[in-house]
Amino acid sequence: MLVKVLSPQLANMIAAGEVVERPSSVAKELCENSIDAGATSVTVEITGGGLKKLSVTDNGCGIHPDDTETAFLRHATSKISSAEDLDSILTLGFRGEALASIAAVAKVTMISKMDGKDGKITVVSAGKLLRSEPVGCPVGTTVTVENLFFNTPARMKFLKKDYTEAGYIEEAVKKLSLAHPEISFRFVSDGKEKIFTPGDGNLKSAAYAIYGKDVSSLLVPVDYTDEASGLKIGGLIGGMTLYRKNRSLQSFYVNNRCIVNRTITLALEEAFKGMIPIGCFPVAILKVDINPSLVDVNVHPAKLEVKFFEENKIYSAVYWAVKNALSVKTMPVIDAAEEKPAVRDILPRNSGAASAAYAFNSARDSGCGREYNKKYADKPSDEEIKAYKEQLKNKTENIFDFDIDKESAQAKETEPVKKAQEYEKPVRTGETKKIEGTEFVQSTLSETKGGYKIIGQLFNTYILIEEGENLVLTDQHAAHERLIYERLLKESHEKKIVPQMLLAPEVLKLTAAEFEAAVDNLDFLSELGWELEEFGENTLAIRGVPYVISKEDAKDTLTEVIDGIMDGKQSSRTEKEDRILYTIACRSAVKGHDKLTLPEAEELVKQVKESEKAVTCPHGRPVSAAITKTFIEKLFKRL
Ligand code: ADP
Ligand code: MG
Repeated sequence: MLVKVLSPQLANMIAAGEVVERPSSVAKELCENSIDAGATSVTVEITGGGLKKLSVTDNGCGIHPDDTETAFLRHATSKISSAEDLDSILTLGFRGEALASIAAVAKVTMISKMDGKDGKITVVSAGKLLRSEPVGCPVGTTVTVENLFFNTPARMKFLKKDYTEAGYIEEAVKKLSLAHPEISFRFVSDGKEKIFTPGDGNLKSAAYAIYGKDVSSLLVPVDYTDEASGLKIGGLIGGMTLYRKNRSLQSFYVNNRCIVNRTITLALEEAFKGMIPIGCFPVAILKVDINPSLVDVNVHPAKLEVKFFEENKIYSAVYWAVKNALSVKTMPVIDAAEEKPAVRDILPRNSGAASAAYAFNSARDSGCGREYNKKYADKPSDEEIKAYKEQLKNKTENIFDFDIDKESAQAKETEPVKKAQEYEKPVRTGETKKIEGTEFVQSTLSETKGGYKIIGQLFNTYILIEEGENLVLTDQHAAHERLIYERLLKESHEKKIVPQMLLAPEVLKLTAAEFEAAVDNLDFLSELGWELEEFGENTLAIRGVPYVISKEDAKDTLTEVIDGIMDGKQSSRTEKEDRILYTIACRSAVKGHDKLTLPEAEELVKQVKESEKAVTCPHGRPVSAAITKTFIEKLFKRL
């Protein structure tokens, strides 16, 4: 066989296959060159998904007129010159491959000018220099790529429809704009502007331009430095009420290079465990700043992956950076920032934040919205209204029902809630006025303490709190569920969930499959407070229950716990534990429509204020939402 050295053209075409996979890789490489050239403004324009034409214009330093042809040579780069330089790469490019590879499979026109030098136009098509001469142009560079892959029909076959390719380019530009908020990026596809970022240096404004208001308003900053290693983690993450069903809104950067990386992904998702629903993914723009000698960026043809020398340090830095950022509390706020308030917007369901949260509809979300919808779907009959009015007349005392001696088992066991009678009844300064036959009560329910005042309970489901310039609504079930879950989780880690032994065991008949799942997990369940015993065929005797569960709820809760174990057969032990604790917390928490006494409400709100985690319930629904005073005043045209 004859061994031949390939012609440079052919070698470049083969190499192009690695660097230039599709039009979006061309856009990425050209934008990276503009960024390396110190541009503050970069415009990407495409027609026909970037195959017909793709151009990138920047206002960077430009190329010296003597270098324009060299730049198209393979391994021609101005960015590194020695092997040592490989250890300290801070530019995006360094291999000198992109221009050569692109020009091997397309027609490339480069117009570039350095300050104080002549401008120059250089045209290379399929690796051949067609033109190179002076031209009048502004400082900066425009590279135009036409007829991409015209000479590599095999590559063409792998491409998708034009609009799909255009979508990939848009994604690439988005990722780059988030990496460089100091650069104003513009992306125009078939004459339509799709992206425009302000380039003001603020990541939040770039995120606003890329993701829109609903998403960006819920992003919280990450700012973490590991003093020992000098490792810095910055960026923005979605608070606990913002997440997606996939990882599409996650971008990771290392020294401002957009990369994919398993360690960072794992650390981010681990830090979000229990904060967002199972099966959902956090939203994040995470930036790792690391000494370039501690990371190898030269491990992937398209420079999409990097190798860290100390993976575990990266993992823990990202984990703690995210955890710290998450402990800053957030809640959806309904404000009248710009638009005039639409009455519909009062419902948290319509606010961006809440709709993201509501998107998740857990099957076990029983204590939540669905029940409410069912109960209130039917209009009350006239008799019911009459009875209600009657009731109102007799109960002008307080909107909290102090008479009910509901003291449900769970309330007693889970919260150190004092009996209503042990509290002094709040002083009532209100007076009763007759307004067209209905009682109208003004009352001061709770003193302002710690900067807030409980003013009532709405639909027996939300605790209303006046706090500063906001009306805060706290979902009693979501709040209680989160508090119980957090406590159980902590106790479970400390192996301290104590069973409460039942005087007489409860007997639970199961299906064969359920029974098997339970028996396989007896030890595990016992660590979580369930004292169970086999009791004949497919039957369990429940001798003890986690202390937050009442005897009445024991069987139903256990059945649900076992179902959870069966659903999550493949999942890890921590995930199983999570599911079980969610079920227990959901079952033992106060429900929506449970009337609360004022002391109960006060205790709950106090604990919510004290807890760092009480931002969402374990299913991801918000615990609290706020309506601003401005919004309310606009409703009444006071502003
Ligand atoms: P690399 O980026 O790895 O150096 P490229 O093939 O992408 O390799 O570019 C080759 C060289 O051309 C760069 O090193 C740079 O000097 C020059 N260059 C390319 N694009 C630009 C640009 N937009 N502005 C200024 N210089 C550029
Ligand atoms: Mg480059």
